[in-house]
Amino acid sequence: AKAEGKNTFRFYRQTMNEELTERVQLENELRKALERGEFFLVYQPQMDIASGRIVGVEALIRWRHGEKGLVSPADFIPLAEETGMIVPIGEWVLRTACRQAKRWHGAGLADLRMSVNLSSRQFMSQDLADSIRRIIQETGFDPGLLDLEITESMTLDVGRAIATLHQLKQLGVSISIDDFGTGYSSLSYLKNFPVDRLKIDRSFISQMLSDTNDRSIVSTIIALAHNLNLQVVAEGVETDAQSAFLASHGCDEMQGYLISKPLPEEDIHRLVLQRVH
Ligand code: C2E
Ligand code: CA
Ligand code: CA
Ligand code: CA
Repeated sequence: AKAEGKNTFRFYRQTMNEELTERVQLENELRKALERGEFFLVYQPQMDIASGRIVGVEALIRWRHGEKGLVSPADFIPLAEETGMIVPIGEWVLRTACRQAKRWHGAGLADLRMSVNLSSRQFMSQDLADSIRRIIQETGFDPGLLDLEITESMTLDVGRAIATLHQLKQLGVSISIDDFGTGYSSLSYLKNFPVDRLKIDRSFISQMLSDTNDRSIVSTIIALAHNLNLQVVAEGVETDAQSAFLASHGCDEMQGYLISKPLPEEDIHRLVLQRVH
């Protein structure tokens, strides 16, 4: 039994070393990915339920890795966050998204909103408002059409979060709470936070028609948002039945595979015009 324990230990140590090596390697590659131009953005349309029009898109990052191919954000955003690399990467995302949106506006998609995800490290960085101000000036993008998605976990330091949100609001941008309902913070922050929109997390939408609890949660979030004068967006809508339920409960917008998967920039123009005409 003793020998076995030793072997097990050696085995664990070896796997841990391998994992560490892999992590360090990924970290180095992540560091170079920006200079090498390996990141790109895809855009997922957001539809206004009442009119059927595409009113906005959410920018989602992708990494085309030299050998590994496409790496999903779930596999590198946490590492980027831990190492602080998320700050320059996040700035690249904002700049690229604003530049793209400005181009769309020039090409006839005049009021398409651009939503960009902020990571918590980015949200906490002292430089955030200045950096966004610079990007808005540099790209000439209308800040009224820029939407920043934050999550509840970023708002744990309530005082700090409120101050940051006010700085951002002064730039004229709008704020959405992403993955709403999955965090642990108190609902009372909703009345103190200058936010504009709640995005109902996909985990509630996906089981909504078979699970009465999820159904109650969804209709309650919609009512809560409207009572607080906030807009509400449902994430991860995949079926007509889900869409019909959301419409009947007065949900403002929806996003999900039912409308479209995230698309490369060249496909957005066609899709938006299709829906408008
Ligand atoms: P998120 O912000 O909650 O984004 C929604 C995710 O759900 C996206 O995954 C999207 O492709 C996926 N999705 C959308 N509709 C459906 C649907 O109908 N069904 C299913 N099953 N999935 C759907 P993605 O692009 O892999 O992004 C995952 C997460 O990575 C994002 O979750 C966000 O937290 C993070 N992320 C992505 N891009 C960025 C970025 O530029 N900056 C930061 N900080 N985080 C990002
Ligand atoms: Ca998001
Ligand atoms: Ca989300
Ligand atoms: Ca999410």
